[in-house]
Amino acid sequence: MSATPMKQLTTVLLAFGANLGDREATIREAQMMIANAAGVSEVKASPLRETIAFRIDGPDPDAPKYLNGVATLTTTLGAHELLDLVQSVEQHHGRTREVVWGDRTLDIDIIVFGGKAIADERLRVPHPRAHERDFVLSPWNDLDPHAVLMGHGRVKDLLEAVGDTTTAYDGASA
Ligand code: ADP
Ligand code: MG
Repeated sequence: MSATPMKQLTTVLLAFGANLGDREATIREAQMMIANAAGVSEVKASPLRETIAFRIDGPDPDAPKYLNGVATLTTTLGAHELLDLVQSVEQHHGRTREVVWGDRTLDIDIIVFGGKAIADERLRVPHPRAHERDFVLSPWNDLDPHAVLMGHGRVKDLLEAVGDTTTAYDGASA
């Protein structure tokens, strides 16, 4: 009889972003889908923050604003299994009537996967640009003021260094 392999519990940080459709509903629904997925527990979501869209050539005040947030969770999934899950959730929200090619209703990135460093063709963790993104650092700092980004240091210090251009989002005013 084969023994059940020990499932390792990993602490993860996910980042969510949306700039089309009902951004808040999309992000909250996505977080719910992930929370309800097999192998995922203890999902804790940050408050949401609003950010001016960033294009290849810089910030674009004319583009629809982004809503961003992060969530911590623990999982027994492997890193690539978790990527499959978040990509299926992205796809579920990938079509709205106002969708424009190139713009997406929902982006979910794996920022940290335990203490693991992974760099292959599908996945890079820790996320290579997380340390310079206020829209990741700011909600992360809201969720956990003592957070540390592997390889870069305290989230609070990183946020101070890049400068926080995000604003608190009051859903009720939307
Ligand atoms: P972006 O997040 O840069 O706007 P996409 O969401 O379209 O772009 O992701 C492009 C690819 O990035 C995905 O197909 C995925 O395989 C890869 N990828 C690499 N590292 C990560 C990560 N840490 N989290 C999520 N996707 C990642
Ligand atoms: Mg992505």
